[in-house]
Amino acid sequence: MKARAFSYVRPVTIAEAIDAFAAAGGEASYIAGGQSLVPALALRLQAPECLIDIAHVEALRGIERQGGRLRLGALTRHVDAHDDPLIARYAPLLHLAAPHVAHPAIRNRGTLGGSVALADPASEFPAMMLAMGAEMEIAGPEGTRRVPADAFFQGVYETAIEPGELLVAFHIPVAGPHHRCAFDELARRRGDYALVGCGVMLAMPGDVVEDARIAFLSVGPTPVRARAAEVALLGSRLDEAAIRTAQTALAEDLDPTDEAHVPATMRLHLARVLLGRLLGGLGAAT
Ligand SMILES: Cc1cc2nc3c(=O)[nH]c(=O)nc-3n(C[C@H](O)[C@H](O)[C@H](O)COP(=O)(O)OP(=O)(O)OC[C@H]3O[C@@H](n4cnc5c(N)ncnc54)[C@H](O)[C@@H]3O)c2cc1C
Repeated sequence: MKARAFSYVRPVTIAEAIDAFAAAGGEASYIAGGQSLVPALALRLQAPECLIDIAHVEALRGIERQGGRLRLGALTRHVDAHDDPLIARYAPLLHLAAPHVAHPAIRNRGTLGGSVALADPASEFPAMMLAMGAEMEIAGPEGTRRVPADAFFQGVYETAIEPGELLVAFHIPVAGPHHRCAFDELARRRGDYALVGCGVMLAMPGDVVEDARIAFLSVGPTPVRARAAEVALLGSRLDEAAIRTAQTALAEDLDPTDEAHVPATMRLHLARVLLGRLLGGLGAAT
């Protein structure tokens, strides 16, 4: 199949991009890296009349520390999430997750904005935004607003971004020397979407967990925060008993559905195995 014919515009400012969407009467799609959108066009899963190429909008670029936050422009590519030293230092979950996203050719073009705007529940970066407590900066005809990751992901491929709005940047609380972070996933083959993935971020100024954020991918319609497991870890020394309690608590946090080759019980089991490995590794490092 081929994509339907479409018109193409290349704005250089956010305002031009938003105006172009309105001018197309809403029958438009923004395109960033094109790694998800182009296959969707070719399969006619999407058939916009107009493509608005945002790759030349300078305000969507940049990787910069701003006080206690790291600002990442929406056009930050997957490959930058792995290679950039500021991201590796201040948002290590993105650095750790990046090699698990697709393949090098896709990572060279795919953007964080595209991945998070698409909000595939099996994607790594949306779940890591949740684990890090990022805020999403969104621009629309009425101006700019910020939405915390906890309120951003609303359903399968559904986010707080309204039609015509543009994801501009991520504002991520910077990780400090007292943070311990880990990411891993279980997939049938490397490069496949994960059966289960998990990112953990612990604040441990000493040998006791003072704060915990844990987010899973591929366990439900959106990325999922494991709040009961987080609570189970607070005040603990990350010993075996605490890790077992957190693993058990996942039954309260996760409610996966049965799928053809992956029963819900198996996914919950894999999530527990994965969390145990990640916490065990962080505990051993203390
Ligand atoms: C073979 C293959 C394997 C893959 N494997 C994985 C994987 O393992 N894990 C994973 O996470 N992903 C995977 N992907 C998806 C890949 O990471 C995509 O690049 C990414 O999801 C989309 O980023 P993009 O910049 O290419 O967005 P695009 O394809 O350009 O856009 C995707 C969607 O987001 C919208 N959009 C883009 N930017 C913005 C913005 N700034 N504001 C508002 N809306 C915007 C577009 O309108 C479109 O609806 C895979 C893709 C392929 C083709």
